[in-house]
This record gives sequence, C-alpha cells and structure tokens, in this order.
Amino acid sequence: MAKAKKNSAGDASLEKQIYDLKQLLEISKSLNSVIDFSTLIEAILYTCMGQMKTLGVAIFTKKNFDASCFQLNRNYYGFELTNDHEYFIPEDHPFIKKLNTVNACITVEDLAKMELEEDKPISALIALNPSLIVPLKAKNHITGLLVLGEQITSEPYSDYEKEHIINIAALAAIAINNAGLLEMTTTDMMTHLKLKHYFYTVLMEKLELSEQQKIPLSVLMLDIDFFKRFNDTYGHACGDVVLQMVASVVQQNTRNQDMAARYGGEEFCVMLCDTADKTAMKIAERIRKSIENLDILYEDQHLSLTISIGVAQYNPEVDHSAKALVDRADKALYNSKQSGRNRVSLAE
Ligand code: GH3
Ligand code: MG
Ligand code: MG
Repeated sequence: MAKAKKNSAGDASLEKQIYDLKQLLEISKSLNSVIDFSTLIEAILYTCMGQMKTLGVAIFTKKNFDASCFQLNRNYYGFELTNDHEYFIPEDHPFIKKLNTVNACITVEDLAKMELEEDKPISALIALNPSLIVPLKAKNHITGLLVLGEQITSEPYSDYEKEHIINIAALAAIAINNAGLLEMTTTDMMTHLKLKHYFYTVLMEKLELSEQQKIPLSVLMLDIDFFKRFNDTYGHACGDVVLQMVASVVQQNTRNQDMAARYGGEEFCVMLCDTADKTAMKIAERIRKSIENLDILYEDQHLSLTISIGVAQYNPEVDHSAKALVDRADKALYNSKQSGRNRVSLAE
C-alpha cells in the first residue's frame, strides 16, 4: 500500500481541514461585518473560545490608535486578574519585538526560552498562566495579543490547532486594524471624541431605528461658558487642556451605546440612545455639575469653569432631519446662555 503522504496539517483528516477552512470563511465574514470596536472584541473572544476549546480567552490591544502600549481589554473570560499586576505591554517591549520576527504561537515554556527579563509586563503575562499566546499581526506588525486560558482537554495543542488559531488571529488582526482606521478617521485627535460628520452619520441611522421601534432618543448640545477667557488669559495651550478635561467628563457620563462628539471649537454634542428627555435632563445636569466641580491645575493655577447645555428629545413630528433635532437642542443651549449660563434647558 502506498505510504500516505504526510500533509502539513499532520494530524487532521481532510474532512476536518475542509470543515475548518469553511469555519475560517465564516469567521472572516462575521468579523469583517463588525465595525464597532467592543462588539468586534466580543466576537473575536467568542470565536477563539469556540474554535480552540478553551475555558478562557483575553486580548491585549491598543486602547487608542495613538497609544504606545497594548492593554488587556476589560472584556475577557476565564481569567482571574489581581491588583498585583498591571496588564499591559509597551509596543517597543523586547517580547513584542521578538514576536514581530516570528509567525507562531508561544507557550509559557517558549516564553521562558526567550530569556527575557522578567519585568512587569512579562510577570503579568506569566501570572495569567496562558495555555497559548497568539500574536495578532496585520501588515506584518503586531496589533495585539490573544491569550488563551485553561484548555478543556488535557492534550497540548497540536501543530494543526496552532496553525488554525494563527489563521484566526490573522483575520482578527485585519478586522482590528480596519476598526482602528475607522476610529482614526472619525475621532478628534485632541479630545478623543467623535467628529461632527461621523456623529451625524450615526445619528441619522439611530433616528430611523428610533422612529421604527418607538425608542426614545435625546441629544445634548454643550458649550463652555466664556471659554475665550482661558485662551486670552492663560494662552491657547491652556484652552486645549480645558477642552480635554471637559471632553473627558462628557465621555465618562455616556454609555457605550451613546456617542459624544466635538461639534465645533468648544462645543460638544451627545446622542443618548433609548433615553427620553427626563433622563436626558438628569444626565445633562450631572455633566454640568461635574464640570462646575472640576479643579484644573494648570501651571500652578487652579482653574474652574462652567458649561451651558441644551436638551432635545427626538420628535418625528417636528424633527424631519437629524439637523432639525440638533438645531432644537442648540436653541435650548442658546436659552441656557441667555438666562445666565451654567444651566441646562429643555427644548420646546
Ligand atoms: P460663551 O459663554 O458665550 O460661549 O463665550 P465663549 O468665550 O465660550 O465663546 P466664543 O464663541 O466667543 O469663543 C470660543 C473660543 O473658542 C474662540 C476660539 O478661539 C476658541 N477655540 C476654538 N477651538 C479651539 C481649540 O481647539 N483650542 C483652543 N485653545 N481654543 C479654541
Ligand atoms: Mg461656542
Ligand atoms: Mg462658549
């Protein structure tokens, strides 16, 4: 009998290989249909757990497109994190540099053989006790790391399984890269809030949904009071710091499904999904108060500021476009300014 030709997959039957290739196609389709970053991470984690029969999976990615280190995403399964470790790896870390030169999964034993200094990032990685570390590579660059946890079976991963997860990681890396590009082109670099044109694109979609499904939606327009004074008194750089602080407060007060954007120079807008005007007023008031309570230390000076806000709930009867809704919120903001600033007004 002719000796069976050894295929590269080694231990996998042809049927299994065809099945896995079909799976890869499905994974590619599903990952590429997601553009929202946190939904994408969730999809990657589920895919890895299902495909690799593991009880745990976590992912290190850059928090922002301009970040210089990979951080453990707060969405993970099957790991117990401790406060003794900070789960991050700088992108210029020797481990990442090493991974850039190979295209393979790493076990803890492989990691030990690399003879890297056991610094904070490496200790944190080892403390996770991963069954496999898989580099996420797009365009020949590491864009993150997948960390697999405890395996369901006690068998070590076969070469075939390692090749399979490398293929999945390649698809995941491209999807993460695309999501990053979208984030980069839709985000204001200084405040890290969304840009106006992207806000409108999403708002138009959400308004359609809101009308079809009778789900309330509200918009806030915010404008810093007497902002020009900061620039005039302390300089433009100080004005920029103030803008970043305000943006951060606005961001902290919005949920994942909401969207905060920089509307113009020192104006912001927020889309609150599934939120009627009563709740929107409460959220606006919370933002107003948080900003009033800010104590910004700039070059040994304590600075304080206030903000005026306008609130409008989407009403399909009068808001025939996204712009019409934003205009009503803007009119309410104007009322806040006219009636003394540092207040919240509801649109008529
Ligand atoms: P009001 O209470 O009526 O809103 O007064 P204001 O001073 O906040 O409003 P005004 O529209 O007169 O001034 C806004 C200023 O914001 C003018 C502009 O120079 C400044 N600005 C716009 N974009 C930026 C920016 O990116 N950085 C800094 N530092 N300043 C900016
Ligand atoms: Mg303004
Ligand atoms: Mg202003």
